[in-house]
Amino acid sequence: MRRIVVVGGSIAALTAAESLRAGGFDGQVTVVSEEPHQPYSRVPLSKGVLAGREPAKSALLPAPGEDIEFRTGARAVRLDVRGRTVTLADGTEVPYDGLVVATGARARRLTGGSDLVVRTLDDAEALASRLATARSAIVLGGGFLGMEVATTCRALGLEVTVVDLVPPLLRLLGPWLADLAVAAARDHGIRVRVAPDGVTVVGEHRVRCGESVLEADVIVCAVGDVPNTDWLRDSGLPLDAGGGLVADACCRVAPGVVAAGDVVSREGRRTPHWTNAVEQGRAAAAGLLEGASARPYRPDPYFWTEQCGLDIKISGELPLTGPPDILAGSVNDRSALLRWRHDGGAATAVAVNHRLPVIKLKRLGAGVPAPAPART
Ligand SMILES: Cc1cc2nc3c(=O)[nH]c(=O)nc-3n(C[C@H](O)[C@H](O)[C@H](O)COP(=O)(O)OP(=O)(O)OC[C@H]3O[C@@H](n4cnc5c(N)ncnc54)[C@H](O)[C@@H]3O)c2cc1C
Repeated sequence: MRRIVVVGGSIAALTAAESLRAGGFDGQVTVVSEEPHQPYSRVPLSKGVLAGREPAKSALLPAPGEDIEFRTGARAVRLDVRGRTVTLADGTEVPYDGLVVATGARARRLTGGSDLVVRTLDDAEALASRLATARSAIVLGGGFLGMEVATTCRALGLEVTVVDLVPPLLRLLGPWLADLAVAAARDHGIRVRVAPDGVTVVGEHRVRCGESVLEADVIVCAVGDVPNTDWLRDSGLPLDAGGGLVADACCRVAPGVVAAGDVVSREGRRTPHWTNAVEQGRAAAAGLLEGASARPYRPDPYFWTEQCGLDIKISGELPLTGPPDILAGSVNDRSALLRWRHDGGAATAVAVNHRLPVIKLKRLGAGVPAPAPART
């Protein structure tokens, strides 16, 4: 292989590009990213950057090495798998011998496109300036992102209502942890509204929710994401029903094509978390360089969220049923180390406001025996 092209400009793309070099690839590496910015992390966008506590530049990732060509403002619009060519929006054709697809996902929107969302740096800056003069916000969607945005709005002094089809975080975390998170949200003064029939956005400031209409200065849409695979529609690459790009256990999609990060559908689902994007970026590079001898990628189901005074770190599969073993701390104090055991010996370890090195949390999540349970 003489030239590997990486499409996407964020953590999965960057990790794949750097891993190609670390893996000994000495041909040309070209990264094409549609965004105008150098690579940045999305993680602080709903937290410190949105709150104005951290400058936008704190989200920037280290620039790629000089031996990696990084093109900004370069959107891929078409892929010719047989001809091994990516076509950019300006008509440029970029030939490749190997291709990494790392185009991530975009925010799902409820209206034609005018919704306020938090996916990109530009989104976060636009929303931050709206929040600066707002007194109230409705956040549509009570997932991790929605609850983080709600927390930030509240910290800025806004009245905040979160609306979702089901209680916030229930589908993601299961009832036990969701109850804990919702109680913390209520203690923070965040109103929670369950709208089983959904909501209709009826204007810039109004949302219909069952029989009632809710109003706020700002309405933020945090109702999930959509994989960026439109540009692959005619490529013949396998897409799942939700548009995710189907990859195997070594992140391979087709001969000479691998994929990494939020765009990937593996075993029927996507895993849109930071650690997964990093791990898959590494695995995709190995899948391309090592071919059939590449080791299968082992998912690392680790992620974290910060909301309503809860710093939650999770290692293991979700959602969780039943009560956990309390390994340390106390749930009443909202500071605890918890573990759920699953059939077959696997486990999920959760640290809530509990300081524990990530590696130890992962060992607990892998089912490694824990220290003796706390007595409290
Ligand atoms: C606000 C926010 C907060 C988050 N907080 C956490 C957290 O606390 N913990 C956690 O584990 N995860 C968190 N995540 C999730 C985490 O950020 C994502 O899993 C991660 O960004 C995925 O990286 P990626 O490179 O796969 O995709 P993305 O970050 O989506 O990047 C894809 C890149 O590809 C570019 N692209 C798309 N289409 C094209 C095209 N056709 N041509 C060229 N370029 C293209 C995009 O512009 C983008 O730059 C958060 C996400 C958001 C949005």
